[in-house]
Amino acid sequence: MSGAGPEIERLMALLSKLPGLGPRSARRAALALLKRREQLLLPLTAAMQDAAEHVTTCSVCGRLATRDPCATCIDPARDASMICVVEDDGSLWAMERVGAFHGRYHVLGGLLSALEGVRPEDLKLDRLIARVQGGDVREVVMALPATVEGQTTAHYIADRLRGLSNQIEITYLARGVPVGGDLDWLDDNTIAHAFKTRR
Ligand code: ZN
Repeated sequence: MSGAGPEIERLMALLSKLPGLGPRSARRAALALLKRREQLLLPLTAAMQDAAEHVTTCSVCGRLATRDPCATCIDPARDASMICVVEDDGSLWAMERVGAFHGRYHVLGGLLSALEGVRPEDLKLDRLIARVQGGDVREVVMALPATVEGQTTAHYIADRLRGLSNQIEITYLARGVPVGGDLDWLDDNTIAHAFKTRR
């Protein structure tokens, strides 16, 4: 407690829940917001309200989007025969930043984890399988982290997809993605190289 009043305490408590912000950085952030009411606090409030009202998830690929299906899923310039499987929107944004991939995406919304009790039914796998069964998909690129969970998930999905058809090519981002590597933390050249040399 800082004795700053319940409104400010609440703001700080909520800010401290954001990734990378502990109680100390949350106090600094709250202070910065309150001191810069016109330039920061009010525009941020409006942006958050806007995001809360308009951002949804695409019912095809599972990414965050402001319309459903999302712009990527309906873009005729993108190759519908390729699906890149990613853990979350952070990984998708990293792939898009690099610009090496011109197909469609599938966002799993997590990774299988015995430790954290994440099971196949907790991921958006059924939708991926339905998309592949739809018939147009030729290649599924696994762009999952090089962690135990990432690789377990990739192999599980690959097994499921091979069970559907032997016409589908399943590829993996190549070395260059370090062990434990989260796509969002990699530099763009590394991701582009890992994509071009997928196997
Ligand atoms: Zn989509």
